[in-house]
Amino acid sequence: MIQSLTGMQDIVGDEAKKYNYVVNSAKEVLENYDFDFLKMPMLEKTELFIRSVGGSSDIVNKEMYRFIDKGENDVCLRPEGTAGVARYFVQNKLDRQPQKFKFYYHGSMFRYERPQKGRYREFNQFGCESFGEESVYEDYAIIEMASAILDKLDISYKLELNSLGCKECRPKYIESLKEFLRDKKDKLCEDCNRRLEQNPLRVLDCKVQSCQAEYEDAPKITDNLCESCDTDFRKLKELLDNNSINYEVNKKLVRGLDYYNKTIFEFISDKIGAQGTVIGGGRYDGLISYLDGKETPAVGFGMGVERAMLLTSLPSTQNCGYHLGAMDEEALSSIISLTKSVRVSHKATLEYKPKKLKALLKGADKANAKYCVVIGENELKEGKVWLKDLVTKDESTPTIDEFLNSIK
Ligand SMILES: [Zn+2]
Ligand SMILES: [Zn+2]
Repeated sequence: MIQSLTGMQDIVGDEAKKYNYVVNSAKEVLENYDFDFLKMPMLEKTELFIRSVGGSSDIVNKEMYRFIDKGENDVCLRPEGTAGVARYFVQNKLDRQPQKFKFYYHGSMFRYERPQKGRYREFNQFGCESFGEESVYEDYAIIEMASAILDKLDISYKLELNSLGCKECRPKYIESLKEFLRDKKDKLCEDCNRRLEQNPLRVLDCKVQSCQAEYEDAPKITDNLCESCDTDFRKLKELLDNNSINYEVNKKLVRGLDYYNKTIFEFISDKIGAQGTVIGGGRYDGLISYLDGKETPAVGFGMGVERAMLLTSLPSTQNCGYHLGAMDEEALSSIISLTKSVRVSHKATLEYKPKKLKALLKGADKANAKYCVVIGENELKEGKVWLKDLVTKDESTPTIDEFLNSIK
């Protein structure tokens, strides 16, 4: 017997319904904000992720499904979605056009990690990216959309917010952070010592308690912002306040990816343990130029679909659709034709064998149908159907035409 790979899952039954519910709810929100769907390849050149996500990141170093294909290309299964959208954007020279572009995407991502609750090696992400808009109103709109998705799914959250500064103010801040860290080297964990040189901002979200204790007094980026970053961060907080979106500024919040600047945010739930981030995102004005494009403002977010699935419940299902059956062999072909017509606009289930009325009603119950439609000997003679509304218990015997007209 062949089993699925570790960390790979089949999604079926109510879980599959929940998957559709999460993705469709998010789609509805994004369509209302005028974002276009972008379906991207799952396989990309490895170089794309080295240049965007960063060669020093765990994702690129340890977690990619990477191989050489038969054409001797170094390729990998996408570990995240933003890089692909950015690649599409640059490849099609959209960075040379004056208008703004907004895309959403969803689908499988792949990372070879230790599987945990709500975390798989093949997982699904729903994300969006807005290109060309530098106004902080767009940062706000992106956060508003993310909160609208979670509200729609009835998921409660805590929104954490920070600013990472820009290329004016961040390098100065990083220098003062490095200086602060230099004296503490031997008190910090191995990972922090490595990050200290390669990516010092990342030390701030180290999971090791003793490291965190050392960082209590570390200089904070939000106290070192340049005027433009500071003004934008204030404006963003004001917009959130005015629109009743609750948030907390977390001065230690940094994102795991190298290309962020200014606004970053995470929607966190305490109901899924340590892996609490359901939606994370921010601004990454530097990414397009990393990929040889013209520098372009960009802001977006990604949602972990499996995590959202853990936190939401399916809306209660009501009886819906039709269950059809015949009471004798002669009526079968009529009921098959009738079902074809019903299925043009409604969900319908069909019994392939003639059955007694009681058995047909039982089948309708099992299918959670709202109506049971039966053709027996009499109905067949008179060109009628026997119809029962299983919720109101009303029964009637309309002609086939009357019935079909009534359900249009
Ligand atoms: Zn700045
Ligand atoms: Zn550490």
